[in-house]
Amino acid sequence: MSEIAVYKVPESVAANTFCTEGQYRDLYKQSINDPIAFWSEQKNCVDWFRDPQIIKNTSFSGEVSIKWFEDGELNVSYNCIDRHLPSRANEIALIWEGDNPAESAKVTYGELAREVNRFANVLKSLGVKKGDRVTMYMPMILETTYAMLACARIGAVHSIVFGGFSPDAVASRLDDCQSSFIITADEGLRGGRKVPLKANVDAAIVELAASTGRSVDTVLVVRRTGADIAMTKGRDVWYHDVSQDVSDHCDPEPMKAEDPLFILYTSGSTGKPKGVLHTTGGYLVWVTMTFKYIFDYKPGEVYWCSADVGWITGHSYIVYGPLSNGATSLVFEGVPNYPDASRFWNVIDNFKVNIFYTAPTAIRALMREGEDFVKATDRSSLRLLGSVGEPINPEAWNWYYTVVGEGRCPIVDTWWQTETGGVLISPLPGATPLKPGSATRPFFGVKPALVDADGNILDGATEGNLVLMDSWPGQMRTVYGDHERFIQTYFSSYKGLYFTGDGCRRDEDGYYWITGRVDDVINVSGHRMGTAEVESALVAHEDVSEAAVVGYPHDIKGQGIFAYVTCKAGVEPTDQLRSDLVKWVRKEIGPIASPDVILFAPGLPKTRSGKIMRRILRKIAENDTDSLGDTSTLADPSVVDDLIRTYRVAT
Ligand code: ATP
Ligand code: MG
Repeated sequence: MSEIAVYKVPESVAANTFCTEGQYRDLYKQSINDPIAFWSEQKNCVDWFRDPQIIKNTSFSGEVSIKWFEDGELNVSYNCIDRHLPSRANEIALIWEGDNPAESAKVTYGELAREVNRFANVLKSLGVKKGDRVTMYMPMILETTYAMLACARIGAVHSIVFGGFSPDAVASRLDDCQSSFIITADEGLRGGRKVPLKANVDAAIVELAASTGRSVDTVLVVRRTGADIAMTKGRDVWYHDVSQDVSDHCDPEPMKAEDPLFILYTSGSTGKPKGVLHTTGGYLVWVTMTFKYIFDYKPGEVYWCSADVGWITGHSYIVYGPLSNGATSLVFEGVPNYPDASRFWNVIDNFKVNIFYTAPTAIRALMREGEDFVKATDRSSLRLLGSVGEPINPEAWNWYYTVVGEGRCPIVDTWWQTETGGVLISPLPGATPLKPGSATRPFFGVKPALVDADGNILDGATEGNLVLMDSWPGQMRTVYGDHERFIQTYFSSYKGLYFTGDGCRRDEDGYYWITGRVDDVINVSGHRMGTAEVESALVAHEDVSEAAVVGYPHDIKGQGIFAYVTCKAGVEPTDQLRSDLVKWVRKEIGPIASPDVILFAPGLPKTRSGKIMRRILRKIAENDTDSLGDTSTLADPSVVDDLIRTYRVAT
């Protein structure tokens, strides 16, 4: 592979950071050598009603039990709102940018307090109690944040279902967590198109009754577009009606640290989504601390995470982490390419965004549209960029760094999972020299290790399966209602270790490079290869926009390499290009990595969160398309039919 560039921490960043390289080293060492002392101190980043004395009580063996700060009491909404009021009631908590660029709003911490208290009182008046599961199926509007914080205020457990999912997906999640209270909106708005949220909820309730006999008691509807929708008497209520006379004061419920905060289903890249349960104290400490250090957030700065609150990234880094820190967090209703591919950069200019956090899938999509959409904007307010969700190919990293950030902004490539609650491996901007494509080093208290197939821990520069040797406060506590599945999924592969499911390489500097899911590792003539590496090589070619690589049975090599390639706009997929690409990969990585098959694909199957679903690509490559498995979280199922057709024509 070509020589890897290293980007030193710029002096201006090091001079103005919470955490320099030396501080990182010392704090990290302490966090591993004496976790009790470390967390006894760090837990004070949140306000406790009752200060915990028992810091850590965790076991990765046997029944697997994870408890942090268990005798402490606190409230998440108090931490995200009330504690800031004495000093920052008039500072901006949320900036909302509508799908339509002409619509926006700003909400101060004082206003946020009133709105959340009112929402909490509405929930109470409708009978929601501590411990009840509240399903939310919402667009990216301010009320979504109010509703989350209102649940947290009264101790209800929210379960957010991404607003792009189908009625079936809503029904199965309603059933899985036995929820009978739904918050939704009349319609959502994305990229100029309307999403029939309330109608989908109605369909989901019909589906739920048909498949389980269960019903839903209440549907609370927020008005967004003003569409004419059906309201079922006795079940459906408008938020603007029931909120009219409620008080704007509601005492925050004191919650035990291990009381549930929310359930969130994983994105389903690898199979049926899991209902991940996060609790109150450890989760809040984790997102508060990671937000502060990883984004090196200073008061007054404007921070924007472009994720949807339907994903863990939205929970932890649009709502809970930023607000717990008293930050200004931007909530974006729209999509990156509407009205055009300059949208992100226009929003950054309009609100003078300092920190921007997005996903590789968005970066690759915008890269495909060319530099002009970026260069037409100013972006001088930006000082830090972030990436999450998938390995970021060095090609995309370089584009993000050079074109978007103009070589001025460090990139924090944050590796984590729904299960981990917050980031586990990431650079800290003032402490970590960057290498494009590497998530670099573990956060405080995180003890990663690489193991071989038998669970032997591997030392030094090596490659293996990524595990975590000990618990961290933000860790999920169980799969909701199915602790056995929790143990089976995460703790049965390697005794006493949390298995992430991801493959990873560690280099001479101790930097971690996520190579993709372990299930996706390809074994060509005895050589194990991560899919990310081959994909990055393909994407580095000037004609390629996106690539996904899977293994398929090969008579001689055991497994062959099957590459799905999407070309840049205007590029003709020809046989010449196909053989050029094979040569290109040989040169970039080596002959062992040459693709055996290249299929030019008009689009790749992705989850709603933008991740490539390789297990489907594997099935197609194996010519086994009758059993594609759970495809309910696919963004656009027609892509799969197109691919199968392309495959049939090509073979
Ligand atoms: P499911 O578990 O249902 O298959 P999922 O794993 O896609 O879905 P998430 O929790 O949203 O659900 O995603 C976590 C995964 O995303 C990680 O395990 C990893 O594979 C990938 N990932 C996230 N961030 C990064 C990153 N910075 N670099 C590399 N991979 C990443
Ligand atoms: Mg996963």
